Amino acid sequence: MIYPITVYGDPVLRKITTDIDTNFEGLEKLVGDMFETMHNAEGVGLAAPQIGLAIRIFVVDLSPLGEDEPLLKDFKRGFINPQIIDRDGDKVLMEEGCLSIPGLREEVWRYDTIRMKYLDTELKEHDEQFSGFASRVIQHEYDHLEGVMFVDYCSPLKKRIIKGKLSDITKGQVSTSYRIKVPR
Ligand SMILES: [Zn+2]
Repeated sequence: MIYPITVYGDPVLRKITTDIDTNFEGLEKLVGDMFETMHNAEGVGLAAPQIGLAIRIFVVDLSPLGEDEPLLKDFKRGFINPQIIDRDGDKVLMEEGCLSIPGLREEVWRYDTIRMKYLDTELKEHDEQFSGFASRVIQHEYDHLEGVMFVDYCSPLKKRIIKGKLSDITKGQVSTSYRIKVPR
């Protein structure tokens, strides 16, 4: 099932999300629906608040980038109840976009390497290090679970410049190839 994607201005995108219970019903279906929703929108990552749920789940699929980056070819994973426990390495500047902020891309500094504890979709525990592009996408999605969006990192000047565009998005005045849910 493909969910409509919440956009900038929706209060759910500003919530601090909560861990799911390990007895959470319908987890497999939910994760499957998140992948389907993300693929339909041609995204590489999607967090639960982007489908209106304030819970700690996100999905990442970097396999479309596998042609240029063979290491990413098999990187398709769901992350449950993640906790970043360390950030390390140089900070890297790279342009990012977000399915909840259609049509806007800005450069964001991120740490190259993170260490994260999480459960996979079988609820198996992991403590793993990520770096490079996977680390960037994970940090972006993880931010969604903390109520943070990439435009929050923009300079005050940049924020002023994109203000109009963000408010258009909140009003639904934006064109997308996928269905969005406009905040009331
Ligand atoms: Zn995003």
